[in-house]
Amino acid sequence: MAFNIVTKNNVRDRFKSAPRPEIWKDATDKDWNNWIWQQQKRIKSMDVLEKVLNVTEEERNAFAQSHEQFNMGITPYYASLMDPNDPNCPIRLQSVPKAGELNITVNDLEDPLGEEKDMPVPGITHRYPDRVLFYTTHNCPVYCRHCTRKRKVSDPSSSAANKQLEEGLAYIESHKEIRDVIISGGDPLSNSDDRLEYILSRLRAMDHIQVFRIGTRNLVTLPQRITDEFAQMLTKYHPVFVHTHFNHPKECTQEAFDAVARLANAGCVVNNQMVLLKGVNDDPKIVMELNHKLLMMRVRPYYIFQCDMSQGISHFRTPVEKGLEIIEALRGWTSGMAVPHYVVDAPGGGGKIPLLPSKYLISHEGKTWKLRNYKNQEYDYIEP
Ligand SMILES: *Cc1c(COP(=O)(O)O)cnc(C)c1O
Ligand code: SF4
Repeated sequence: MAFNIVTKNNVRDRFKSAPRPEIWKDATDKDWNNWIWQQQKRIKSMDVLEKVLNVTEEERNAFAQSHEQFNMGITPYYASLMDPNDPNCPIRLQSVPKAGELNITVNDLEDPLGEEKDMPVPGITHRYPDRVLFYTTHNCPVYCRHCTRKRKVSDPSSSAANKQLEEGLAYIESHKEIRDVIISGGDPLSNSDDRLEYILSRLRAMDHIQVFRIGTRNLVTLPQRITDEFAQMLTKYHPVFVHTHFNHPKECTQEAFDAVARLANAGCVVNNQMVLLKGVNDDPKIVMELNHKLLMMRVRPYYIFQCDMSQGISHFRTPVEKGLEIIEALRGWTSGMAVPHYVVDAPGGGGKIPLLPSKYLISHEGKTWKLRNYKNQEYDYIEP
């Protein structure tokens, strides 16, 4: 079908591929563009990482002390986006262990979002009235150092077996109030196409299910995973929403552009959920650039998450003011489409709480609302 053909125009030309690191210079394009090859060649040890980057003493120590609790795993593609000489490269901060991970602070929580508490059956978190999170695997191509589900991700003993999958499907089937299912993980695209199709077809056969979302970071860490066959398969189960997780403009490459194009051409709506991370994207200019690139890729910025209270990620947390500052720097100054909701996912399972800069509402008395616009000009709105 013609819809998979990636549009070649001057928007696509603005997105670039990163040069391949020396150790993979001999790989054929066919291998490099093959997601199975990318999975097999993932960097899991210091020996290989040393061949790609000038690893610092801090990174070497942090790896030695952390990899038993939380694996390192980096696809060659994602590694190719790193600056080999800059330890503060935003791609590197997200995927190579750092000393901060070893620091467990008193406020850190093992299950920061209380996801276990709202679990009626293993593998389902049912917190909101009409939608559920459905965990289908605990593997990911790249283990993000800021992951909120560290307690599970990369621990194969906690992975979703078929029995758990069936119990999850049975729960969704018997709860008619559920209309939206978020297929999650780990990364659900670590499942085979067949297993994903099985899940989607079971859900689509339920009359009360209106939409589902696939929550995946493969668009960022392994865009080769979005094959034409996969995109084609999704067309049978529309409406399919894909929620992804770009954090930095460097992640917006031609490979990512093409992966989104395959999904969007196949009729999927793609949304982005950025996590606010110190040193990576805690700067309004970076977020503005990221969101502009995402829109050119046909990805709509949906959420900015305040970094949660997961264990060993305190070095990534910014003040809440930083998130408010970013929203204030976007709203009005650029397309509303580039302005996501800034939310704090309340520790302990309170759910997502939206925050807006307080400047917009000056006061409200009787029928008069005193308001302030993005340029700090004041206006009265008077109700009838
Ligand atoms: C984030 C989340 C959802 C989805 O929330 P939306 O605001 O609809 O995107 C659903 N369930 C749980 C438990 C969540 O954490
Ligand atoms: S892809 Fe998602 S679930 Fe997997 S490590 Fe990254 S943040 Fe965690």
